[in-house]
Amino acid sequence: MSKTEADWCKKIEIWWLLRDMKNSKYKDTTILWGTNGDKGSIGCEVNLWGDEKFVRFYYAQTSRDTSEKEDFDYKVPLTTTPCRYGGSRYWFRCLLYKNGVYCGRRVGVLYKNGDLFGCRHCYNLTYSSRNISGLAKPFGRVINIREIEKMREKVKRTNYKGKPTKKYLRYLKMDERAEQSFIGIARLLSGKAKRILRATKKKK
Ligand SMILES: [Zn+2]
Repeated sequence: MSKTEADWCKKIEIWWLLRDMKNSKYKDTTILWGTNGDKGSIGCEVNLWGDEKFVRFYYAQTSRDTSEKEDFDYKVPLTTTPCRYGGSRYWFRCLLYKNGVYCGRRVGVLYKNGDLFGCRHCYNLTYSSRNISGLAKPFGRVINIREIEKMREKVKRTNYKGKPTKKYLRYLKMDERAEQSFIGIARLLSGKAKRILRATKKKK
């Protein structure tokens, strides 16, 4: 099965979602796609209070199978990791199940390639940058997240004449590498990695 390109899906980037929340911990808003929402819109509540930080999505859409209106209302947990220079960085925690297994990945972007918003791994999405330049070496080095945020802010337009811009592609590539680094670190800290370390020590 060929992968769908991520650029063609509805997506929500965490930095964008929280861009106006530097001084607030709650908002209830509408997210629009296209021109004034002609490509779709959803209700979105963001709560950064307490231990259960979340974003709640609520929307109605017509079922492809039954052509009846279906209501969706669910929460995606938000999680934080400390920043190198203080403060913390927010992530979505993907709530999808793939082949019966809960995903739970920490991701910076959610996509909608089905009924719910989930990560690109669950939806089997690929970045077009991967096709063009090949996948950057994962876990090669830890990337400075602020650099990436700065890169994203500099991207004035993501597409030009139907093609992703070079600046946007560069950003996507960096963002992907950063995500892999983070997942790599999380894995290293997990028990599995500790077991591997123990096993290698025993061999010596
Ligand atoms: Zn997922």
